[in-house]
Amino acid sequence: MAPARNGVKLGCDIDVRLDVPRAGPHLLGFSQRCESPMSDTTLIPCPSCGATNRVPRTKLAQGLQPVCGQCKQRLPTAVAATTPLTVTDATFAVDVERSPLPVLVDAWAPWCGPCRMIAPAIEELAAELAGKVRIAKLNVDENPQTASRFAVRSIPTMLVMVGGREVDRIVGAQPKDAIRQRLERAVAQARGQ
Ligand SMILES: [Zn+2]
Repeated sequence: MAPARNGVKLGCDIDVRLDVPRAGPHLLGFSQRCESPMSDTTLIPCPSCGATNRVPRTKLAQGLQPVCGQCKQRLPTAVAATTPLTVTDATFAVDVERSPLPVLVDAWAPWCGPCRMIAPAIEELAAELAGKVRIAKLNVDENPQTASRFAVRSIPTMLVMVGGREVDRIVGAQPKDAIRQRLERAVAQARGQ
């Protein structure tokens, strides 16, 4: 355990609980992968014991559930995990390819009508699938490197990424339920292998 400083726990002694559907909850070794206590962190007060926990933002962005370093209760992080995550050429490797959760990457552009049409569905899926699948958005105009690497030829294209691998892609605007069904099937298949 890192020493508490004025009641503030350093981020590197925080256990992180990741809820994986079917596999059940288990602990991830957050501590080992914590490069520096000075990395970009956010302070979350524990509703149970009042301790202030320092939590790396990158872990929250990945949809991980942090627990209190003192009493091990879950910390409230709703905002971080229920809205789509914006990813870029620079953050794709960390936020998508190394994500512990499956990721649906919505490749879009502001000028694309069908992309705007499915945007509300993408937002809703982020809330509905919080903690199960991370929903991300990639602006292909601003991030041509990733768009070209995945050969995104028309938008919207939704990449289904599991364990750093593309396991499926959904091309074109579709109703929310159709996106969700295909996404869940692809994730289940990838996990079953
Ligand atoms: Zn606590």
